[in-house]
Amino acid sequence: MKIRVSSLRDYNFCPCIIYLRDVLKLESTPSTKRTRGLLGHVIRREMALRQPKLLSKAKSVEEIKPIILNELDKILQDVPYIYREMLGDTEYQPQIEAVYSEIVDEIGVMNEKLKPMVDELGIDATLKRITPWKVEYSIKSANLKLSGRIDKVMNENGGLIPIEIKTGKVSEGVWEGDRLQTCAYAMLLEDKFDRDVPFGFVEYTRVHEKRPVMTTQQVRRRVINTRDNILDIINGGIPETHQYRSENKCRVCGYRDVCCEV
Ligand code: SF4
Repeated sequence: MKIRVSSLRDYNFCPCIIYLRDVLKLESTPSTKRTRGLLGHVIRREMALRQPKLLSKAKSVEEIKPIILNELDKILQDVPYIYREMLGDTEYQPQIEAVYSEIVDEIGVMNEKLKPMVDELGIDATLKRITPWKVEYSIKSANLKLSGRIDKVMNENGGLIPIEIKTGKVSEGVWEGDRLQTCAYAMLLEDKFDRDVPFGFVEYTRVHEKRPVMTTQQVRRRVINTRDNILDIINGGIPETHQYRSENKCRVCGYRDVCCEV
């Protein structure tokens, strides 16, 4: 059995999610806030994945922002088809306007951060620097008992760097769940390509920042321990729900309604 790398983050958020979702097969409940979060997530993710293509259309720094804004309309048309499974029956249409204006503000940030790089390196070199070797790269390992899909893999002179795109709230550094996920992807790349992957990045789209994750022994061990804890739950271990209840987490958790009944 292989554990999805995204489950490491879910477990880190709350182990009960693994039990409710993967053992009891319960569905999470949609809410306006979560629907808005989901819509924002797919749009930001698409924007991050299309960034190199958009930059390649610009002939000067000034052209970048209008090109990205123009693409936003196209993304809104495309996401129901690309993320059909993820969006499902979600009633996201009423949320489009609010999410759109949030993202327009973020495009301003993206433009400001790209501008100095383009000024210094020029468009072609910037493009080379930000264009991934692979996007949405599926990978698995029987040795590691892990599988997943890496948002972007950069290849810098043969050195592979996994990048995990995150579209949610940003902290000062890297959230622990994001750290585990990125380190797990690095370990999967090492296993597949038999070369060291000493670090990866988490790309926080709201602030347009890539923050490093070092694949230290400690983080690698936490990846393995978390994987084993998930396997224990799937193989019959029942996490104590009350032990993990936390006002902040439960308030935003999609399993809140069903969790209280377990
Ligand atoms: S409602 Fe709270 S305890 Fe239950 S799964 Fe969600 S975060 Fe965990």
